Amino acid sequence: MSSDDRIQRIQSRIRDVPDFPKPGIVFKDVTPLLGDGAAFRIVTDLLAERVGATKPELIVGIESRGFIFGAALAERLGVGFVPVRKPGKLPYRSVRETYSLEYGTDALEMHEDAVAGRRCLVVDDLLATGGTAAATGKLVERLGGTVEGFAFVIELDFLKGRARLGSRPLHALIHY
Ligand code: AMP
Repeated sequence: MSSDDRIQRIQSRIRDVPDFPKPGIVFKDVTPLLGDGAAFRIVTDLLAERVGATKPELIVGIESRGFIFGAALAERLGVGFVPVRKPGKLPYRSVRETYSLEYGTDALEMHEDAVAGRRCLVVDDLLATGGTAAATGKLVERLGGTVEGFAFVIELDFLKGRARLGSRPLHALIHY
């Protein structure tokens, strides 16, 4: 299957859900993609092809859909996986990064010993404004890791999240 056909196959399994979780947002639902084994494998294939040159030592996946794609990619590359979670979920000593949303703030946490001295690739399902991925990058750097790049299944280009992530390599399979 050509690269274009593979992208087309993935795109056909992403469902638009208007006005979720609030009016005006078009939610990109990846559950049909996850439920299609061949399409899910194509996502992992393409991410592995594109990030291979980065040679990360760890995949840092963002709760919650970043866990699914990130863990599959880590397993494929034969590298470790580190979860970044919403506050209060991690059992061991953790460090928190707070970031601003359109209204209010949110926060993410990582175990304090998770990434020191390691080359990390940050993975999530979707890049929107970039606040979540930027906060994750800051956590990695505060804890002594390096951010070698970012990878997403979907990028919402019109929100310009990429501009918040600096000049590091950024891979996205599907663009809207
Ligand atoms: P942001 O911090 O604005 O880049 O938002 C990215 C995070 O919010 C990711 O973890 C996404 O899963 C989620 N997200 C934001 N917008 C959408 C959307 N339109 N559809 C699905 N998930 C979204």
